[in-house]
Amino acid sequence: MSTTPAVTIIGAGPAGLTAGIYTARAGLDTTVLQGGQSILNRNAHLENVPGFPAGINARRYLELTRDQARRNDCTIREGTVRAVRPTEDGFLVETEDDRYRSEYVICASWADTSYLDDIDGIGIISRGSKAYIDVEDDGATGVDGLYAAGRIAGEPHQTVVSAGHGAKVALSVIHDSEVPFYHDWVAPEGYFTDRGRDVPPGCEEITDEERARREEETLAVMQEYFADRHPEGPTQHPSVRDE
Ligand SMILES: Cc1cc2nc3c(=O)[nH]c(=O)nc-3n(C[C@H](O)[C@H](O)[C@H](O)COP(=O)(O)OP(=O)(O)OC[C@H]3O[C@@H](n4cnc5c(N)ncnc54)[C@H](O)[C@@H]3O)c2cc1C
Repeated sequence: MSTTPAVTIIGAGPAGLTAGIYTARAGLDTTVLQGGQSILNRNAHLENVPGFPAGINARRYLELTRDQARRNDCTIREGTVRAVRPTEDGFLVETEDDRYRSEYVICASWADTSYLDDIDGIGIISRGSKAYIDVEDDGATGVDGLYAAGRIAGEPHQTVVSAGHGAKVALSVIHDSEVPFYHDWVAPEGYFTDRGRDVPPGCEEITDEERARREEETLAVMQEYFADRHPEGPTQHPSVRDE
């Protein structure tokens, strides 16, 4: 195993992708496994995500979030997880074609818990036809190193709640992994250092020039994303037949 703690995140919806952005930015070697579509693909127009005053096509929102994860060094791989097996120093996460060794696993796979069948000590809560993973407030399960985030962890069925929970659970993983970390903040030059403080781990101070460069990049990138309508619309509930 590499010296950088590895995190495997199961599921590329708002919870898993946001968790990936956080763990990757903290320097953890992060892989998100995408085994099928986020349920958010069924949304017709996403109107309650902060930052999009007139709403956004949910497919575009997911694309933006995936690209943000990639830009922050998070690897996204296709693959449906079949099993998670505890090992001496972490877990082996198995898809049909690949195996991923990792110290930490975050389950963000609404609504699939089947790959946990062989693990002792994890609580699965059944409510109607749905199954949820029993977690502490910080997303920890009964198994050390194994966490759950988003709807699968029983969070309310909303995009921002799942994304926020993904971030919160990622912070638990970051703290538990003991990588040096204070906050993930980008501050203007001098914010810490002009007060005689070192820039804390996880934080960054940037110059006005660098800030301008980043903002220019933001404008260029966002104009590309929003130049045209997204080509895809919502997917229907699987039980609705096309007539
Ligand atoms: C019709 C509809 C409209 C909605 N509209 C809104 C709205 O307007 N506003 C709002 O806030 N919320 C809305 N939602 C809710 C929102 O989509 C969910 O709350 C949110 O997507 C949950 O995020 P999540 O990351 O927990 O799960 P998901 O987004 O479902 O992501 C889970 C991911 O894990 C993957 N996965 C599952 N099993 C495995 C496995 N074994 N291996 C690998 N990957 C796996 C899934 O394929 C999926 O990609 C809507 C939902 C629906 C159905």
